[in-house]
Order: sequence, then C-alpha cells, then structure tokens
Amino acid sequence: MGRVLVMLTAAAAVLACSVATVMVRRRMKRRRKWRRVVGILKDLEESCETPLGRLRQMVDAIAVEMQAGLVSEGGSKLKMLLTFVDDLPNGSERGTYYALHLGGSYFRIIRVYLGGQRSSLHVQDVERHCIPASLLNSTSEVLFDFLASSLQRFIEKEGHESISSRDVKRELAFTFSFPVKQTSLSSGVLIKWTKGFAISEMAGEDIAECLQGALNKRGLNIHVAALVNDTVGALSFGHYHDADTIAAVVFGTGSNACYLERTNAIIKCQNPRTTSGSMVVNMEWGNFWSSRLPRTSYDIELDAESLNSNDMGFEKMIGGMYLGDIVRRVILRMSQESDIFGPIPSILSTPFVLRTNSVSAMHEDDTPDLQEVARILKHLGVSKVPLKVRKLVVKICDVVTRRAARLAAAGIAGILKKVGRDGSGGGRRKSDKQTMRRTVVAVEGGLYSNYKMFREYMDEALRDILGDNVAQHVVVKAMEDGSSIGSALLVASSHSVRTIPYE
Ligand code: ADP
Ligand code: MG
Repeated sequence: MGRVLVMLTAAAAVLACSVATVMVRRRMKRRRKWRRVVGILKDLEESCETPLGRLRQMVDAIAVEMQAGLVSEGGSKLKMLLTFVDDLPNGSERGTYYALHLGGSYFRIIRVYLGGQRSSLHVQDVERHCIPASLLNSTSEVLFDFLASSLQRFIEKEGHESISSRDVKRELAFTFSFPVKQTSLSSGVLIKWTKGFAISEMAGEDIAECLQGALNKRGLNIHVAALVNDTVGALSFGHYHDADTIAAVVFGTGSNACYLERTNAIIKCQNPRTTSGSMVVNMEWGNFWSSRLPRTSYDIELDAESLNSNDMGFEKMIGGMYLGDIVRRVILRMSQESDIFGPIPSILSTPFVLRTNSVSAMHEDDTPDLQEVARILKHLGVSKVPLKVRKLVVKICDVVTRRAARLAAAGIAGILKKVGRDGSGGGRRKSDKQTMRRTVVAVEGGLYSNYKMFREYMDEALRDILGDNVAQHVVVKAMEDGSSIGSALLVASSHSVRTIPYE
C-alpha cells in the first residue's frame, strides 16, 4: 500500500513537473515572441528617428533642391513649376465664380460670390463627393465627362434657385491636385498621375482643354478660365485674407507646397513677364528625395508595390494616402513573426485596407482600455487582442505619424530658409526681432485638419527647428476649402477674364 502511495506520489510529481515545464516553455516562447515584436517596434523607432540635427539637414537639402529646380528644368527632383500666378487676390475682387476641384480622394464644386471687400466673400454653395474608385484607372473621356456631368447637376440645381443666372457664361477655375506643366494661367499639360490615379491617354494632354471639351459637349456655357494647382489655390485664399501669406502647404491624400518667389530667382524662365516681380512656384514637393530621409523597410516595400515606384518618395512618407499603409505593414510584419495578433488574417495583407483616418482614431483613442483600437483591429480581422498589444499598435501609429509630421515641418522650414524667413539671414536676424517679418504659411488638407497629433507634432518640430525667437513670427494658418475658393479668387483677379461676370 505504502509502496503504491509512493509510486503515485512520484508519478504525480513527475506529471506536475512536466506540466510546469510545458508551462514554463510556453511562457518562455511567449516572452521570446513578445521580445521579437518589441524588437520590431524598436527597429521601427530607430529607423524613423528624426532628431533635430537630421531635420536641419532636411531643411538645408530642401532649400538646396529648390534652388537647383529653379535654375534648370530637370535640375532637381523638385520640379519647381511655374504657375503664371503673379498677382494674388487682395480683397477687391467682384463677381460670382465657380471652382471644380479634383483632389486625391474627393472632388468639390463651389460657387463663390465676391462683393469687392474681403468681408463680402460668400461661399454660396459647396459640394464634396468621394471620387469613385472606378475612375482611378478609367479613361480621360470618362473622367472629364464625369466631372462635366457633376458640374451640370450643380448648375441645374442652382438654375431653379436663381433664374436670372441661367444664361450667363460662368467663369470656372479648375483646381487640379496633380503635377501640371503650365503654359499659361489657363492651360497646362499633365506631367504624371500620382496618388493611385492611373488614367490612360492623359500624360501630355492639356487638362483645361479636356475639361472645356467635356463641358462644351454637354452644351454648358462655362469657361475654364484658370487651371490651378490646389496649393496655389490655398495660397491665393490665404493671401486674400492675410497679405503676409507667402506659402501654402497641403496635407491631404498627398502632400505638396507652393510659395511666392522673386521672378529673377526663377533662372530657368528667361522671360517670366510678371508685373509684380514675383511668381508663385508649385514645388511638387512630394517628389523631394534625400538619402538622409529616415527610410524603413516598410517604405521600401510600399514604394516597390506602388503604381509609381521610385517616385514621390517624400509624399509616401507624409501623405494621408500612405500613413495607414505603413502602419498596416508593421502590424503585418509583427503578426508574421509572432502570434500576438492570433492567426494572420488575410485582410491584413490587402494594401491600403487600413486608412489614415483609422490611424488617427487609434492614436487618439482616449478610452482606458483602447476600445477604438480594438474595434479597428477587429475590422482588420484581428479580435480579442490584450491591452498591451493594443498599446503597441498605438505606439506604431505614433512613430509613423510623428516622423511624417516632423518631416513636414522640415519641409516648411526649407521654404522659409529659401525665402530668407527662417531667421538665418547671415546670422544677423535671429537676435534682432525688428528685422524679422511676420510670415504666414497657409495649410490645408484632411490629414492636417483632422489629425490633432499630426498638427501638434508638426508645430512642435517647426518651433524646434526655427527656435522660439523666429517661430514667434511664423504663423501656420489652417484653412478649409481654401484651395477651391482661392482658385475661384484667382479667376476673379486675373486679367485674362474677358467676360463680365454677373453678380
Ligand atoms: P483631397 O486629398 O482629395 O484633397 P482631403 O484634403 O480632404 O482630400 O484629404 C483627404 C485625406 O486626408 C484622406 O485621404 C486621409 O488620408 C486624410 N484624412 C481624412 N480624415 C482623416 C482623419 N480623421 N485622420 C487622419 N487623416 C485623415
Ligand atoms: Mg486637397
């Protein structure tokens, strides 16, 4: 009996031992996997680092590239495109004007009334629609007929409200958020598509002519009076309200900037023929590149799989279209190298399935147990993740967005440096408040206006780069629909408008 008991006790001990061993092994395995995931995060953090010294190198590189792009065509990755906009609106404009804006994700139509004074600007109607996904790789005919029909509906709706305006020729600005080589204020050819657009038979076509043709086909009495890059529209709107506005930046689906340059600095253009002595230059900064940019393996993969690989490197680090996909790639890597997200859900392998608005929602989730993070992960096929994993996801969002915002700030500081408003003017101005001029940079776009952490990181980095003495003279002003309204203002202020707009 005693022997049996001893044997049983021994067997129980052996069993307990092996259970404990299995548990310990499992725990060790879990820990190893967790360490691997933490290692992936650490690598991400390191490769996304943007210390002040590196940002300052970016600032210098951007200013140098701007200069190179102004000297010769193709002299830089920054195209530094002429816009033929020399006179910016000043508030005295009058009449009723329209703008049709093709952005990266949305198209907008507005009607704006100008009464000859700043305070009398009145946006009478505005419509905003998602661009149907089917248009992105359709044909030029389909795209422009779609835009013309949308405009027709907008006008018809108005016809019922305002009978008197029915037969009047309408003046329209076409706000276009893709790179165009302008040949005048009202004409220009598409250089290339960006932001996922791949419409065939378009490169080299005159964009304004395409739209005018589609409007004529529908018998619409509308004149495409200006072809305006969205950043230029934003600058125009900013300047209308505040004459100290010298640059505009868009942080939306993509990212781009423009600024006011002295014509004699635009060396590649022999005869710019401006009355003001300056011209707005569309930088197309999304294509900026420097080997010093903090690039990760995720950026490299994203670029390689994109429709425009080796192109738009800066945009792919800061544009709203891409931030979500970078975060998705990190989560996917983690789920491949560990089981912290459970079995790898196939949806997580779908490019662009995680959008940047979900990144901001997770990043700014202030519920104690990160319910929003859990909800969004569930949409990605990942459910029941513990709190510490949700915290990890928030951290990924933080790292990717912080890098984007700090690089964006370096871009703005680069423009300020190029125009001598960064306080570095020969080392004199930094200490002398009198000589620093107030400088306004207009900013718009869904990423900037909807993502608080992006704004905060960007503001903080800009202050760090410029230093408090200079930063106090630089105002970053957010605007809504500025690019569309500003484009309409440009039509109003341009000398090329031949018909008398109605009021
Ligand atoms: P477009 O680029 O068509 O001119 P927007 O300027 O409105 O349009 O920018 C839209 C982009 O802004 C979206 O593609 C998305 O990347 C980003 N965005 C929109 N809402 C948010 C949000 N809540 N948080 C973060 N990014 C957002
Ligand atoms: Mg936009």
